[in-house]
Amino acid sequence: MATKTLEARFEHLSVNDGNDPVQGGKSLSKQKDKGSLSTAVSIAGMGATNQTASTRNHLLKIALQNTNEARTNALSPPAKETEENASQASGVLYEQPAPKKLHLGMFEIGKALGKGKFGRVYLAKERSSGFICALKVLHKSELQQGGIQKQVRREIEIQSNLRHPNVLRLFGHFHDSKRIFLILEFAGKGELYKHLRKEHRFPEWKAAQYIAQMTAALKYLHKKHVIHRDIKPENILMGIHGEIKISDFGWSMLKSGSQDNFYNEKVDLWSLGVLTYEFLVGEAPFEDTPVMTHRRIARGDMTIPSFVSPEARDLIKKLLVLDPEKRISLVEVQQHPWIVKHCIKAEKASQRVSNLKDSK
Ligand code: ATP
Ligand code: MG
Repeated sequence: MATKTLEARFEHLSVNDGNDPVQGGKSLSKQKDKGSLSTAVSIAGMGATNQTASTRNHLLKIALQNTNEARTNALSPPAKETEENASQASGVLYEQPAPKKLHLGMFEIGKALGKGKFGRVYLAKERSSGFICALKVLHKSELQQGGIQKQVRREIEIQSNLRHPNVLRLFGHFHDSKRIFLILEFAGKGELYKHLRKEHRFPEWKAAQYIAQMTAALKYLHKKHVIHRDIKPENILMGIHGEIKISDFGWSMLKSGSQDNFYNEKVDLWSLGVLTYEFLVGEAPFEDTPVMTHRRIARGDMTIPSFVSPEARDLIKKLLVLDPEKRISLVEVQQHPWIVKHCIKAEKASQRVSNLKDSK
């Protein structure tokens, strides 16, 4: 029902090219909209019902056609070609006779989903395909004032080349004279942070499954030489099935196969340890005044409450090791008894159930 109502809302919502969705969404997002969770949940079904593979492909095609041009236009100087982009360019671009340009008029703008330091994010529907996505609007003047054009360029460049179920997709981008628009995958269940605050802390099985998904995503990113560097609950969104979607690549970096790669990758593993602790305890492990936090980290001064299981405690202690060389690896995390216990076994059980169903 909620799906229908919202769909109906979309019917008479339209944004003409050049209209400012920020104006349109003003009443919805006067204060920093950190309360978008209920919105996201109520419309959550929509993404799942409307987004058939074909509509997604349709938008993707347009997005890909647009990638090269938009990249060179939106943010100069043009970004460097990656291998993957080059192959997309040769594969998709030349097959399409009349490339469509992405522009704001192609989208119907819905509710404000949230507000960041530099941009607002809206629920949006691509008119011709019905594809539901999140449109992030960044004002060029604000980016300039904040001196973060470079950071945004990097975010776009990196995120648009990533394809993993636990990494938020960036389908494409375009711009007008004042703004840059990012077409993002819609994360139906919003911020993980909000779920954590609401539940105070996650049960071990849930925390383990989230950490396993984070580990899979980080393994993928590191294989692509991307180091996120800003892993925290605020930067993790959730898909409609409660799956994790890493977002916010503003601080991430691309590293060639150099030697310090190893140390940089290890930064994400430290963060994974902090995240594990936070999921299980409900607060960060070294939380204190900035000076004290620093001291406590240096001393390894961390107390893990007694309700945390010995297996989870073991994993946290192996991740929150000051010496990067002694910190365990992503593969070791995947093989850790705590992860195996809650994830592999759960996976096997659900496989057994579905096998049983199939054999009936
Ligand atoms: P910062 O400016 O520090 O990055 P932020 O991450 O909160 O802050 P945005 O990435 O602009 O800023 O997102 C603002 C909010 O909009 C998020 O906190 C989230 O609630 C919501 N949001 C962003 N992207 C999506 C998305 N793809 N799907 C659903 N909600 C989203
Ligand atoms: Mg963010």
